[in-house]
Amino acid sequence: MAQYRSRNVSIPLPAVIAVLAVFVIAMAVVLGLLLDKGDEPENHETSSYYASEEPSDTSEPVADNKGDIIFYEGVGYDLLSVVNKNYQMSSSDGQPDLVTLSDEVTNREGGNYQVDARVAEPLTQFLEAARDAGYNAILWSSYRTQTYQNRLYEEALAKYMNEHPGADRAEAVEMVTDTAPPGASEHCTGLSVDIYTWAAHAEYGALDQRFGDDPFGGWLEANAHLYGFILRYPEGKEDITMISYEPWHFRYVGVEAATEIYEQGITLEEYTGKLGE
Ligand SMILES: [Zn+2]
Repeated sequence: MAQYRSRNVSIPLPAVIAVLAVFVIAMAVVLGLLLDKGDEPENHETSSYYASEEPSDTSEPVADNKGDIIFYEGVGYDLLSVVNKNYQMSSSDGQPDLVTLSDEVTNREGGNYQVDARVAEPLTQFLEAARDAGYNAILWSSYRTQTYQNRLYEEALAKYMNEHPGADRAEAVEMVTDTAPPGASEHCTGLSVDIYTWAAHAEYGALDQRFGDDPFGGWLEANAHLYGFILRYPEGKEDITMISYEPWHFRYVGVEAATEIYEQGITLEEYTGKLGE
């Protein structure tokens, strides 16, 4: 005992304060990083990546075929267009015909939420039906510019590499399945939306898969087809969609296709036969 006491080294108070200050700042930074998960709903920019060409109806493959990715001209704007990692949009898709949703529809204040003009009315009915059923639905996300999607994708890659020291970009590209590259994101078509509630946000955090077991998540999945929407990335179909289960992401395809897809328990890829190469 006495030995330990006699070995006590006296540390100057300013040094102790300096060490404590560094520690406190480091903790604040770590906490800040943990809290800043980008989990606020989007209020994205309105600028457009697209050239102002008219959307094309043709779905013939075009010349800019890069490896195993096939770019289809006009891929983005047919109600049954498959947009994924195999079938990516290109600038030749032009600008979708967008409309801005009112705060009443989105249940948000001051957002600039846009969708394809064909989706606005069915989406309004879908969200109204959800509220009539007792769920305080909010529109979390809708149309995104390719520029904005690119930012989200780069953030997701950086996050992966940060969490997996030693992983390179190629590995991150392979492993990131919860955020699509810009040309592969349905959000860039204006045909897809993410629907959530603040209650789910409080309980699970931003866009969490546990939302699928939430009563509202179940309601959305069971009723979406009545309004022409499909749960686009179902559980167990990840090998086909190449996107992890997303109980909040709904894609408009029209009532007829949505009903068939729902009743058969299939994906849009299976429905259209576009399963990649
Ligand atoms: Zn989504």
